[in-house]
Amino acid sequence: MNYDVIVVGGGIVGASIAFYLTKTKGINVLLCEKGKPPGDGATSISGGLIRVHHTNKANQYLSFRSLQIYRELMKNRKMDFGYNPIGFSLIVSPEYVKNLNNNVQYMNKLKLPTIIYSPQDYSLREKFINVENIGAISYEPLGGYGDPAKSSITFLNEALKQGLNLMEGTEAEKLLIKKDKVVGVKTNFANIYSKQVIIASNFWSKKLTKQLEFNIPLYTKRLGVVFAHTHNYNVLSHSYIDDTSDTYMRPLPDGRILIGIKSSDCNTNIDHLSKKIHYNEAEEALFRASKRFPVLSKAKLLGGRIGFDSYTPDQYPIIGQSEIEGLYLSIGFSGGGYKIAPAVGEFIAEEITGNKKTNELKYYGLERFKDYNNTYFQTSNMYKYM
Ligand SMILES: Cc1cc2nc3c(=O)[nH]c(=O)nc-3n(C[C@H](O)[C@H](O)[C@H](O)COP(=O)(O)OP(=O)(O)OC[C@H]3O[C@@H](n4cnc5c(N)ncnc54)[C@H](O)[C@@H]3O)c2cc1C
Repeated sequence: MNYDVIVVGGGIVGASIAFYLTKTKGINVLLCEKGKPPGDGATSISGGLIRVHHTNKANQYLSFRSLQIYRELMKNRKMDFGYNPIGFSLIVSPEYVKNLNNNVQYMNKLKLPTIIYSPQDYSLREKFINVENIGAISYEPLGGYGDPAKSSITFLNEALKQGLNLMEGTEAEKLLIKKDKVVGVKTNFANIYSKQVIIASNFWSKKLTKQLEFNIPLYTKRLGVVFAHTHNYNVLSHSYIDDTSDTYMRPLPDGRILIGIKSSDCNTNIDHLSKKIHYNEAEEALFRASKRFPVLSKAKLLGGRIGFDSYTPDQYPIIGQSEIEGLYLSIGFSGGGYKIAPAVGEFIAEEITGNKKTNELKYYGLERFKDYNNTYFQTSNMYKYM
């Protein structure tokens, strides 16, 4: 079996890459997914928040371009991502107001509608909020949320129409290397050969890359969301990240509320990690959310979901050609891959097909970790948690 490109992993990142690669005529693309798309990785668990606000220009640009893509493809090709532009707020404490203003400046340059609220003005539009300890709020009317699992399937279905070869139940077990070049993958099904292998297999990629001589700084974090129900249906009018208490939340279409739990490192074998949520961590998440929206203290907890994502030391992904020819990396999305995945797919496809090299991608290369403490992403405009 011979292909031009093999994509390993059918979560949102692999699916978006496959969609954009197959848009180019004459490229023979295979995607192998060890499970059933969208797989049982982070994409199927994700909170799905969509926002442009970040603390560096490159990621703002990737999020902005992704937002445009979600909107354009929905409109022009009727692709369903479950995107719901209910708005997104980033809430910061007084010491970070200057940083927030700086970050919004670039969003303004991108011509993204954004409003900065004082706590007083914000309380006029958010009747359930407690504005204690808030310095400022940045509000994006086009932010909100999407459905990551649906988005991934939508990209894959369209990619199939464009000629993608999809192999389900097919695990890339080993990279095939010949004369210092990656020439394909050994799978449980067959050996498959290609000019280029793109690894988009999240935290599992550690297994696949351990045969390489260079180190990829990737670690796994346990993340999760809990669900709650309150009789006040309009408590949350849109999606929020509250940096003052390291929490995020949004309404669900069925009236429930989704709240993020605290993430934690996990170093055990990733194949044996438990996906069970515990009542005390759900309670703790609800407690933090109810500090901002006090009526939530009476909400009923209705379970939750646990998932895992791969993180890098500066909490931004690794995207780019690796040190070995024939191997491209798109991993380490550090709890924020959904909102940037469309642009990542588009830019990678453009780079690999030789059409264009997007300037912003240069910041995401693996080589940046040669100086761990000084990567592009550690800006002076960061916040306490995000
Ligand atoms: C609880 C939670 C909440 C989140 N909330 C948000 C949010 O609000 N907004 C946001 O932007 N992001 C959020 N994220 C992060 C985002 O969901 C992830 O960054 C993103 O889904 C990662 O996508 P992926 O395709 O890289 O990985 P995955 O979705 O994990 O996909 C990797 C796929 O590769 C397959 N695979 C692995 N190894 C192999 C192999 N050897 N061969 C073949 N297939 C293989 C797996 O089966 C899997 O399907 C959240 C994540 C979690 C867990």
